[in-house]
Amino acid sequence: MQKRKQILTVMIVITFVLLLLANFLHGIWRTVAWIAMIVSLLLFALFWSALWRCPKCGKHLGRLGDGAKVCPHCGEPLE
Ligand SMILES: [Zn+2]
Repeated sequence: MQKRKQILTVMIVITFVLLLLANFLHGIWRTVAWIAMIVSLLLFALFWSALWRCPKCGKHLGRLGDGAKVCPHCGEPLE
């Protein structure tokens, strides 16, 4: 699960960077940055629902904290 968590973290960081860029840029590049940010946000939502699942029972893990070590549905260890 660590690798999946890393992918999701990188994606949310990219989204925030794009959001910052959109605030600093002007003209057409501001629009480009906004569109890229929205696309990356949609991709994040897609990856989150596709990857953030228990490898054993396949149920979505929801908003698990970093401390969670087992699947809340079946108790499968997640590390
Ligand atoms: Zn499970």
